[in-house]
Amino acid sequence: MNEKRGASGLILNEPLLWEKGSTGRCGISIPKNDVKTSPLDKNMTREGPGFPDLSEVDVIRHYTRLSQWNFGVDTGMYPLGSCTMKYNPKTNERQASLKGFNESHPFLPDALSQGALELIYSLENFLKEITGMDAVSLQPAAGAHGELTGMLLIHAYHRARENQRSKIIIPDTAHGTNPASAALCGYQPVNIQSGEKGILTAKSVAAIMDGDTAGIMVTNPNTLGLYEEELPEIAEHIHEKGGLVYCDGANMNALMGILKVRDLGVDIIHLNLHKTFSTPHGGGGPGAGPVACTKNIEPYLPIPRIVKKDNGFRLDEHHPESIGRIMTFYGHFGVMVKAYSYILSLGAEGLKKASRYAVLNANYIKEKLKDTYHLPYDRPCMHECVFSDENHRSYHVSTLDIAKRLIDYGFHPPTIYFPLVVSGAIMIEPTETESKEELDQFVEAMKAISDEAREHPEYLKNAPHLSKVKRLDETAAARKPCLCG
Ligand SMILES: *Cc1c(COP(=O)(O)O)cnc(C)c1O
Repeated sequence: MNEKRGASGLILNEPLLWEKGSTGRCGISIPKNDVKTSPLDKNMTREGPGFPDLSEVDVIRHYTRLSQWNFGVDTGMYPLGSCTMKYNPKTNERQASLKGFNESHPFLPDALSQGALELIYSLENFLKEITGMDAVSLQPAAGAHGELTGMLLIHAYHRARENQRSKIIIPDTAHGTNPASAALCGYQPVNIQSGEKGILTAKSVAAIMDGDTAGIMVTNPNTLGLYEEELPEIAEHIHEKGGLVYCDGANMNALMGILKVRDLGVDIIHLNLHKTFSTPHGGGGPGAGPVACTKNIEPYLPIPRIVKKDNGFRLDEHHPESIGRIMTFYGHFGVMVKAYSYILSLGAEGLKKASRYAVLNANYIKEKLKDTYHLPYDRPCMHECVFSDENHRSYHVSTLDIAKRLIDYGFHPPTIYFPLVVSGAIMIEPTETESKEELDQFVEAMKAISDEAREHPEYLKNAPHLSKVKRLDETAAARKPCLCG
């Protein structure tokens, strides 16, 4: 194929629903009303909220056309760093939509929910095995929610020892949600800079760890895609002064099956089922950010806990030291079914292989592009690599221009301007599900864009050229969204 992948095809224009339809048009035919009108009817008429009158075909075509303006992991490579936008096998969706799971109601008594409870119980055991931790709660609804739960656990741990503390150490390579979660829990985040290798040094942590610091939050691999080599030594310093080690394990697709974080001295970790364990995400869909911890933290885990008693599985509320409930019912069950299906279908060897491919793919891209794009930390990476626009600034071409131009080549742009430690960062996470051919096309596109930057920088300034919508005012789109005509 010689043409650019992003070439526009049969993408149809589509107005807003309010500009479509015709008065009196309707999507369904129902018999004439033979009961007296009720006050409710008034709101349904055109004097009500003013919904447009549309036929079934109007609606179907509207949404189908809009869906074709979109991009997803089923369309192509989506190398959004730190987000693990990998392809999610369809079998997971199929299992989650089995009637017994899909139609089970959370108000059913435990006796009638044994299958669902057993699945949750088994998934918690799988995650214990993967992390090496002693206990897991699947209740948190997302990664950041897992972090907040972790902070509440740390808080409960120190309170039980009547030794409440006020600060949490957070490195500059942590995910942006970390300081927010710590602050939400009332802790003061203390920023610490990573060393020249792009990772934390045990020495710098030892220098600021004190008796008023509750612990540390470490993203591993960190947001530079680098493995925190000194974590075991860092954990020793933290523990020595009575603190706890929290690991942000949202990007476990670099480590699963390879090592157990427990062995690094971690006390609490959250995972992102909707990244590593294969639930489609982005756009605000449901997720799960399970928290795993060691035995000494377990009493504080959220209630209810799933327990196995002789006569089956049940939700147990009796944990007096618990931080309490942090989610309605027991979290997002559908996400758990997909993770369970993913883990079972890959098996232990398959999970290990997935991690290896994630790391191999990121290193492949790093090596292929490092002569073209500035690579601030030239070391073996984990699941993602971070470049910058430094080589292209003399042409007045920025990270944003490069990212926007990638759309014309048929790729979703990578994460940009994050992590903050790299100015003009281009953070690429290819994920384990991309083939070598796909990675090669991505590399070719990035190289072609670099040539364009040199030869026609002005052309990049208003890219993308082939997409349905061109360069948007992203601030206005977020702050002043136009939601109806
Ligand atoms: C995605 C991510 C988070 C946040 O997860 P959400 O589910 O979006 O709340 C936290 N930490 C890291 C390292 C992540 O990549």
